[in-house]
Amino acid sequence: MEVPSRLKWGFHTQAHNLAVGVAPGIPVGRNVRTTLGFLRKSATDSAVDAWLSLFRNPDYAGSQFLHLRGELTDRNTLVPAYANGGTWCKRVHRISEFSRLVRGITGHAPIEAYRSRFHPRLPREGCPRCDCPTESRLHVLVGCPEYSREQFRDMGDLTLESLIEFLRENPLAFSFGNLPPGG
Ligand SMILES: [Zn+2]
Repeated sequence: MEVPSRLKWGFHTQAHNLAVGVAPGIPVGRNVRTTLGFLRKSATDSAVDAWLSLFRNPDYAGSQFLHLRGELTDRNTLVPAYANGGTWCKRVHRISEFSRLVRGITGHAPIEAYRSRFHPRLPREGCPRCDCPTESRLHVLVGCPEYSREQFRDMGDLTLESLIEFLRENPLAFSFGNLPPGG
């Protein structure tokens, strides 16, 4: 597409100025920072930095987001990554397990405490598996006696790996097969 330079159109004007020498020239020589690879890496690093910064904000990750320990950490909690399948996704290959993992991490799970947020006037049903008056995520993970836990005892021990192991040991955890009557 041809754009007359007199129109002073954004990128075209920049390119035009570079071409005619109005703007500072493009550096040449060894190790100059103008290769496409360098620019791509700079853009990627900048995007990842912004993403990590946003992720520290509870309004971005979500107030219910379960921060875990694991391999890709910053300040001892897992952080998002884009390469090699990301931080959370590459660990689980079965869709049903992955769904339950996401429900557990985000807190958007078929559990009594989550349901009560949307139906606050209904009587609380409590845990359908034991006598606890509340079935919260915390209860599922470390409180309910009906789930087995080989990898951790409290939330301080919880890592991504131990959470996945917990889900494999307990197929009903964060599963829709765990709905209470009427749920
Ligand atoms: Zn229970």
